[in-house]
Amino acid sequence: MKLLRIFLLAALVFPCLANAAKIRQKVVNKKSYCHLGDLFSGNRFAIAPKGKNFLAVKRRQSCLFTVKQRRVSVNGVNLELLNLPLYENGSWWLSVPDWYKGLRPLLYPATVPRQRITSIFIDMGHGGNDPGAIGKISKEKDITLHVGREVAKMLKSYGFTVHLTRNSDIHVPLNQIGTKQQRSGSDLFVSIHVNAAKDRSISGIETFCLTPAGAASSNGGKASKTVFKGNKQDAGNILLAWNIQNSVLKRTGAVDRGIKRARFAVLKDITVPGVLVEIGFISNNAEERRLNDPAYVKKISAGIVDGIAAFCRSTKVRR
Ligand SMILES: [Zn+2]
Repeated sequence: MKLLRIFLLAALVFPCLANAAKIRQKVVNKKSYCHLGDLFSGNRFAIAPKGKNFLAVKRRQSCLFTVKQRRVSVNGVNLELLNLPLYENGSWWLSVPDWYKGLRPLLYPATVPRQRITSIFIDMGHGGNDPGAIGKISKEKDITLHVGREVAKMLKSYGFTVHLTRNSDIHVPLNQIGTKQQRSGSDLFVSIHVNAAKDRSISGIETFCLTPAGAASSNGGKASKTVFKGNKQDAGNILLAWNIQNSVLKRTGAVDRGIKRARFAVLKDITVPGVLVEIGFISNNAEERRLNDPAYVKKISAGIVDGIAAFCRSTKVRR
């Protein structure tokens, strides 16, 4: 019976079933974990001991886990895991949701449902009487409008249809954005925001997707079992987040603050893969100046567009 349970769990965890029964598993505090070494070696990754860290490499793919950290580097981009990996007696254990909702879609994009992508919904955060975060020389609502317009222009030049929440300084209530996306019939959703922090030294880019049901968000709060419309695309959401975070970082050279999860209102009700990208910190003087520089706005916008294009390629969707 125990063997059967192990096999069934392994079959779920494994993208292919070969050697599946070799994956050890255990339950800690009602959460299921799988043995990281078994998981990666079974998937033909080379595992390199790196002090107390764990590095798995296969061709151009790599995953680097750091002891006692939720942050893992997946193919060069930081991802905040849903649960802290366990490190016990020299062995690493990864929570099963972190495989399904995180690593598997990123390492095996073919497991993400394919779809035809012809139209993109761009949400420029805030507007009108809602300025968003306020910096020394600018307001979030104006920066998101500039970047969103630039992204829309570039996407159109690639032949995509583009839908916008707004194209002027108006306020669109958060609870209407999901409905707008659904009515537009668009195939992908990208919301653009600017970050702020009390610590003015903080800078960099974060890309959020909807927290999977049963998990807590990256910035704290309680786990929730509620399944939102946006959770139907959990695998697509994380793959889109990786591609956008990777491309924007490449274009800008900004600090990688990682892919994170949150139950943001705009991500709950969307019916297509979607993310919210925080393109920088208005509270950091140098980053605020860059966010108001048209050349830097072009770099961020090109990064978002590159990420969308890479997502389309990696899921082998033909336009
Ligand atoms: Zn915002």
